[in-house]
Amino acid sequence: MLITTRFAPSPTGQLHLGHAYSAVLAHDFARANGGRFLLRIEDIDGTRSRPEHVDTILSDLRWLGLDWDGDPVFQSQRLPLYQAALDRLKGMGLLYPCFCTRAEIAREVAASVSAPHGPDGPVYPGTCRALREDERAARIATEVHCWRLDMAAAVGRAGRALDWHDAFAGTVRAAPAIFGDVVLARKDAPASYHLAVTIDDAAQSVSHIVRGRDLFDATHVHRLLQALLALRVPEYRHHALLTDAAGRRLAKRSGAPALAALRAAGEDGRALAETLRSGSLPVGIARAKD
Ligand code: GLU
Repeated sequence: MLITTRFAPSPTGQLHLGHAYSAVLAHDFARANGGRFLLRIEDIDGTRSRPEHVDTILSDLRWLGLDWDGDPVFQSQRLPLYQAALDRLKGMGLLYPCFCTRAEIAREVAASVSAPHGPDGPVYPGTCRALREDERAARIATEVHCWRLDMAAAVGRAGRALDWHDAFAGTVRAAPAIFGDVVLARKDAPASYHLAVTIDDAAQSVSHIVRGRDLFDATHVHRLLQALLALRVPEYRHHALLTDAAGRRLAKRSGAPALAALRAAGEDGRALAETLRSGSLPVGIARAKD
């Protein structure tokens, strides 16, 4: 089997050391196995993605000494692919339009005594799942809406327990229901992260998904979508996240230095990549325990 990995940044900001670590691991795993390393720019979020971040990301990766195979793939150029998958899921009766605003959902959750919480926060209370077909049709014509997966119906349709394999966590039983009725097509974008990433990883024949543990839970949803859309199930390698000395996960907003800033300050990117791959982290950086 040809080993294929990818690095899939969202150009909504600059990369930091946590991204560099993930990219180095994905790159090295492919290269060590004579495989391919792909670069995919996850830019379907039209309001937050910026072309200038794409240029910076490419420069950062080159500075780290990472080379990718082929041209970078842009999700914004693959919308028909996501639309086709949505149409398939709609045809299976597994999607419904949701007209709720964030504020309406928050009000409903606040009013409920036992609103379940999933990995991404409160689970959608299912308000629009109960709409009648004629009401849906009338409102679709005039109101902005997203499309949600009817999780119970989708799990029922999959019809059996689903597993996936993670190099660090072992065999994992998929538990997508903890997310509730996830959004698969957003109001402002024709796909959500869950849908686009699942379709693309399959379409690009990614065999090993190397990414941070922050996306571990999302894999439950991806595994369900793979079952529904009859896609190949890749292997997963969810690696530990990097933290600062105080144990806080690296993030732009908590002050993690951008790779672009290190590059501009004249730091040696290849030496940094060497440090990351050797397992001895830069000063002030730690690896999260879980
Ligand atoms: N685009 C996602 C991010 O930047 C990563 C997607 C993935 O690796 O599955 O967080």
